[in-house]
Amino acid sequence: MKHHFENQETTVIHAGQEPDSLYGGVSVPIYQSSTFAFASAEQGAARFAGKEKGFIYTRIANPTVRALEESLTTLEGGFDASATATGMAAVSTVYAALLDKDAHVVGTASIYGPSRTVLENEFSRFGVSADFVDTSDFRNIEKCLRPTTRLLFIETPSNPTLAITDIKACARLARDRGITLVVDNTFSSPLLQNPLALGADVVIHSLTKFINGHSDVVGGVIIAREEALHQRLRKVLVLMGGTMDPHQAWLVLRGVRTLALRVEKSQKNAAVLAPWLAAHPKVRWVNYPGLESHPQHALAKEQMKGFGSLICFGLHGGYEPGRKMINAVRLCTLAVSLGGIESLIQHPASMTHAGVSKEHREMAGITDDLIRLSAGCEGVEDLQEDLRQALDKA
Ligand SMILES: *Cc1c(COP(=O)(O)O)cnc(C)c1O
Repeated sequence: MKHHFENQETTVIHAGQEPDSLYGGVSVPIYQSSTFAFASAEQGAARFAGKEKGFIYTRIANPTVRALEESLTTLEGGFDASATATGMAAVSTVYAALLDKDAHVVGTASIYGPSRTVLENEFSRFGVSADFVDTSDFRNIEKCLRPTTRLLFIETPSNPTLAITDIKACARLARDRGITLVVDNTFSSPLLQNPLALGADVVIHSLTKFINGHSDVVGGVIIAREEALHQRLRKVLVLMGGTMDPHQAWLVLRGVRTLALRVEKSQKNAAVLAPWLAAHPKVRWVNYPGLESHPQHALAKEQMKGFGSLICFGLHGGYEPGRKMINAVRLCTLAVSLGGIESLIQHPASMTHAGVSKEHREMAGITDDLIRLSAGCEGVEDLQEDLRQALDKA
């Protein structure tokens, strides 16, 4: 059952979350059960044969998890979704399901660190190879395509440089060559960007970030535009065991209901903080898709419904003053992750992207001075006051 509301702020509250059919509970019940009783041997056999609907075993499917999958399918406009234990379980399932031995992948250079590392260090053992390039310049993608390229895996805005890749153009190129286009949409959330509508085949999210939004759960999701692709991804996910737990799903269902409010408020804060930081005498550069100085500002305006709440910047004098600054914050939390209700600040070169070699980091634009701020939902004056006193100490 798919719900189509005019506004996504309605969808986040109601899709998959109607009162429960047994007692009318307004909150989706937690089906904390690993297995489901069959009424008869015949029913059990029919369920296994796929001839009768119903639940069998929680690794395969669970009612609470299905409620979350319905919510996220509706938000991204897909055929169906599979919730995963973590965002990386979503990434790894996509690789495992869609790459054959010796297949080739083209990806965004400034991608979430482990999405790259797992290909280069683990899938490489099965002959898989990958080129990570600046996908914000389309010609770089075309240049490294091979007859064995199976997957174009992009992240836009990218992590942590916030470079924007043209999803429509990638979809056209991928379709012409029979390549599957996967978009990691974690940074935008379904509220600000819908890659499937722009022609992508698969969207993934780390639910750990905006969608859950309270820095208390890890989780992921894979959403496919078409049935055959969904079935393939689901089959591999269930076999390899990266599915989500019902209690985890219930927490994310609670988080998603306030997604629209949180995205709106944190984005509003970022829109104030980005130009304010850019004007600060100690700040050398700021990158935010909403600033006219952003190299792909026009493209961001076209393919996104908002510029999001991630900002990256560097101080005069490189990382040393930056290190002092992130040590001096009091309200912002010095922690990796993003998209929480609280503001988080971190240093990618020594933290989230430390696993990527310095050479690859530099090619991806992840300079040593880069500081990433995920604006939360606090009062903007309090955030400015905190950043001001921290910059004073830099
Ligand atoms: C955090 C993140 C992931 C991985 O998600 P986990 O839940 O930490 O496994 C993947 N992609 C992006 C863009 C992320 O920010």
